[in-house]
Amino acid sequence: VDEVDGNFVRTVKNCIFSKSIPTPLKGPLRLAAVSKDVVEGILDVDVAVTQSEEFLHYASGGRLLQGSVPLAHRYGGHQFGYWAGQLGDGRAHSLGQYTNRNGEVWELQLKGSGKTPYSRSGDGRAVIRSSVREFLCSEAMHFLGVPTSRAASLIVSDEPVLRDQFYSGNVKTERGAVVLRLAKSWFRIGSLEILVFYSTVVNETAHLIAQWMSVGFAHGVCNTDNFSLLSITIDYGPFGFMESYNPNFVPNTSDDEGRYSVGAQASIGLFNLEKLLMALSPVLSEKQQKEAKMILKGYVDIYQMRIHQLFKAKLGLLGEEEEDGYLIAFLLKMMEDTQSDFTMTFRQLSEVSARQLHNSDFTQMWALEDLSSHKLFSDWLSMYLLRLNVNPRYVLRNWMAESAIGKAEMNDFSEVELLHHILSFPFVTQETAEEAGYAARPPVWAKRLKVSCSS
Ligand code: AMP
Ligand code: MG
Ligand code: MG
Repeated sequence: VDEVDGNFVRTVKNCIFSKSIPTPLKGPLRLAAVSKDVVEGILDVDVAVTQSEEFLHYASGGRLLQGSVPLAHRYGGHQFGYWAGQLGDGRAHSLGQYTNRNGEVWELQLKGSGKTPYSRSGDGRAVIRSSVREFLCSEAMHFLGVPTSRAASLIVSDEPVLRDQFYSGNVKTERGAVVLRLAKSWFRIGSLEILVFYSTVVNETAHLIAQWMSVGFAHGVCNTDNFSLLSITIDYGPFGFMESYNPNFVPNTSDDEGRYSVGAQASIGLFNLEKLLMALSPVLSEKQQKEAKMILKGYVDIYQMRIHQLFKAKLGLLGEEEEDGYLIAFLLKMMEDTQSDFTMTFRQLSEVSARQLHNSDFTQMWALEDLSSHKLFSDWLSMYLLRLNVNPRYVLRNWMAESAIGKAEMNDFSEVELLHHILSFPFVTQETAEEAGYAARPPVWAKRLKVSCSS
């Protein structure tokens, strides 16, 4: 810990934390949002407590719990591909760790709580706009099942904060806010475990980015200083969920080159993991460095495998068929051509009945309406319907066999042949089978049929 007191901005040497006291927000404070799930489920506090005047101060930096030594974390990073040197928590204060009744350790942090030694040219504040986004999205990601930091509360104030509106030069006065956010600690480096550690980060980063892609999430600023070593989603800024499907979707208006487009995230993950390997290399032997490079080589395959699994699940495909990859890629290409909505196309595909699909009846299914305007849609649909059918329509019911046997005994083998053909495609609706009543309610006489071992 940096022993120099005070929040003045400077380059700090050889430490991981600086002691830094939050600057209370000015004006009356209001509780704008609270997550009961976090407050009660993680912090073991009755959510009623958050309604008190005291809570407003504790959750925005005006008051500290006894024994709390607020710290700003010193970190560096590659920003947009280039080493940016010292960055650090420029507007965040870690308040300490809490071990809850389940034995989980969580680090509590305020964001927007004033200047630190790492504020550089910033004012140490966060505005309501960005704080609402972080509060809502981190909780939303949690409930989507994507690993993420959490948010306990959002406190807003009347403190004026100046912000440029999307780099337009139009400066607007907004209001300051503080989010109380939580993540499990990210320090677990053991020199003996360092390669296990590295392969865990490689594996989990690949999994995390695949999960982002499966919900159409673009982080927006995938710089190394925004990539958690625990491979959870952190640092909610100019993120965006893709609406019309487009791999080139860029949520961040200041990302001119589209470096962090939604479709580039997997390869950016690889870039960041290379930087992690470079950072670790001083403590690795030559043999370990070789091993680490092999681990990194595995990243692409891990990602591909995971994304394949996730998209198969989104399409309700059980088991594994050779053409599944093609079926998924074909759909995504049609979605791109027709600019179909990413979230609702998949949702509606899972809600629509097989019968509606068959008849291409998409009333009130707006995303599927868009998708079905594609000229190859019916080709894809027949492939998909075939693949979806895990429940056979035709099985050899006793009465069907009995009927074919009766004819065969009279040297008429036509029904044997018909059944043979139909049962070779048990999942496909066939006209001749429907005419023969093979999918209809069995005839009454079928109930009287008995079979014995005699043959
Ligand atoms: P980000 O692009 O949000 O990941 O931020 C990059 C760096 O800028 C981090 O070190 C942040 O702490 C710092 N930063 C961003 N906004 C502010 C602000 N308003 N005041 C001080 N530091 C900031
Ligand atoms: Mg950041
Ligand atoms: Mg940020």
